[in-house]
Amino acid sequence: MTEDLNPFELLLRVQEEDIRHDQLRHQIDSHPMQAEIAALHDQSVAIDRSTESTRAQRETYVSRQTEIEDEVRDLDRRVQEIDGRLRSDASGSFRDQTAMSKEMSSLVDRKRVLEDEELELMELVEPLDKLLESTRATQQQLHTKALRLHQAMTEERKELTRQLEEVVSARDALATSLPDSLLDEYNRLRARLGGIGAARLVHGMCSGCNLALSATEVDRLRHTSAKELVHCEQCGRILVP
Ligand SMILES: [Zn+2]
Repeated sequence: MTEDLNPFELLLRVQEEDIRHDQLRHQIDSHPMQAEIAALHDQSVAIDRSTESTRAQRETYVSRQTEIEDEVRDLDRRVQEIDGRLRSDASGSFRDQTAMSKEMSSLVDRKRVLEDEELELMELVEPLDKLLESTRATQQQLHTKALRLHQAMTEERKELTRQLEEVVSARDALATSLPDSLLDEYNRLRARLGGIGAARLVHGMCSGCNLALSATEVDRLRHTSAKELVHCEQCGRILVP
């Protein structure tokens, strides 16, 4: 069927398939969702960076809490020791007992100071925990959104690839009917001229470069044979009158 067609008309159909091919290739390679996913990733990295200081601050408070807990444990042990000795018969002289009572009361005082400090630290940690938790929730949302976009993009790319394969086989079927020399020249021009190697002459204008041809050139083309290969005088593309 395509064999009956003028080779230049056929070439324009090959050109149409090639344009469609380039569009599909572009849609696959630079899918708009790709940019959206990248933006979500950037957002997530920025959030991570901005919470770094919060996490570091929280870490300082928490390690101080651990220190306090260790010290309180030591104090309790010492208090118990002294208490045990005071209650036992081995408590020694009155002077020893007085010294032990004094130490005990200073240990209890120290413990109270530490417990107050720990309470303050807990109050400082609480809002930081809340902040970090809400950040985690936001990160999770971003992650889910990115995952969904990625799945949708993969699906769309699959469909676009299917269409691309169709275009390739349609193009190849058309191109087999073209003379090799014409196809070679078209391919060379197409590679050099932004994907358009052949264009139609419409109202005296080349639809490849959108420039009007001179009146004499239009007149010359009118009198050339349909079998003759002509080029746009402006852009050099194969011109199909
Ligand atoms: Zn042109």
